Amino acid sequence: MKIMSNRMDYGYFKYQEEFEEKALSVLRSGWYVLGKEVDSFEKNFAHYTGAAHCVGLASGLDALWIAVKLLGIGPGDEVIVQGNTYIASVMGITINGATPVFVEPDAYYQIDADKIEEKITSRTKAVMVVHLYGHVADMDKILHICRKYGLKLIEDCAQSHGALYKGRMTGTFGDAGCFSFYPSKNLGAFGDAGAIVTNLPALAENARIFRNYGSEKRYYNKVVGANSRLDELQAGLLNIRLAHMQEITEERRQLAAVYSRELHQEDILLPGQRPDTEPVWHQYVIRTRRREELIDYLNQRDIGTLIHYPVPPHLAEAYHSLGYRKGDFPITEKYAGTVLSLPFYSGMLPEEQQYVIDCINSFR
Ligand SMILES: *Cc1c(COP(=O)(O)O)cnc(C)c1O
Repeated sequence: MKIMSNRMDYGYFKYQEEFEEKALSVLRSGWYVLGKEVDSFEKNFAHYTGAAHCVGLASGLDALWIAVKLLGIGPGDEVIVQGNTYIASVMGITINGATPVFVEPDAYYQIDADKIEEKITSRTKAVMVVHLYGHVADMDKILHICRKYGLKLIEDCAQSHGALYKGRMTGTFGDAGCFSFYPSKNLGAFGDAGAIVTNLPALAENARIFRNYGSEKRYYNKVVGANSRLDELQAGLLNIRLAHMQEITEERRQLAAVYSRELHQEDILLPGQRPDTEPVWHQYVIRTRRREELIDYLNQRDIGTLIHYPVPPHLAEAYHSLGYRKGDFPITEKYAGTVLSLPFYSGMLPEEQQYVIDCINSFR
């Protein structure tokens, strides 16, 4: 049996007829960028998250950098972010000329809320929380710190569509919730797409203007903006997937529960779950000091795995200029050296998962 680390075709076939019908209707409509599918997706997704507004954009990275920019953060400003994130979170900060200030992660792979305060300076403008792997950060503590110091709060929810903290959805705690709908995300499009959700009407309005060359009315440009429009095809297909989001999320929770119940291997640390949260399991991430051995062993048995992520942003070549060295963030670096994402995807068959479990349990 061949098991890919991730695959997106099963998730498509599950709702194939609906997707194809929608795609044809958009193609035949004669209207392809920003239109009624985008309008309805924005309404539907705002409703789903519980936020007042949603603005559809071209990608998750765009959602991040545009949110940071429109919240008035730029050169000379510092934004606190966890060290063990996907590099896009950090780029959302540095594209604006602001400086990322890294904080070590906690046992749930989220920003360690107890280590934020010591990083605050007179230049700190915001905290960017990344709900990594579909798990949820310690929001009560983080909100308390943001209020105490008057900091903006940006949530990178590219991996946490539908994840809950005390019953409230990630993306709605701060000034802006930034989502990606890249095909492999929990709510995936069939190309690039993203969105900002917010309860601030001015931020929503400014994002709507900014994404379309800074114009509200065609050819009358208020500000220098960007082209970060969401297209009708992606929005239409996202509307279909969003309608099934409860089922999609429930399936991921079931798959995670099976791994957590059935995996028994003493060299492997399974992921935990923070009390008061309902994760959505974007990845199922284990840790092991025998990672290379385990990867080879699984490869020999036709099982793919991925590392999220092997190089933490502070050690990426792209951020050489920040001047960090190996050893600066020991927990972040330990995670980068030991995490492994097991095969995990929408539509994963019970026999596929059982094969992965059997192989791992017989790893010696
Ligand atoms: C995928 C991802 C992004 C970027 O989203 P794109 O749509 O690929 O631009 C940002 N942050 C995190 C944590 C992600 O996983």
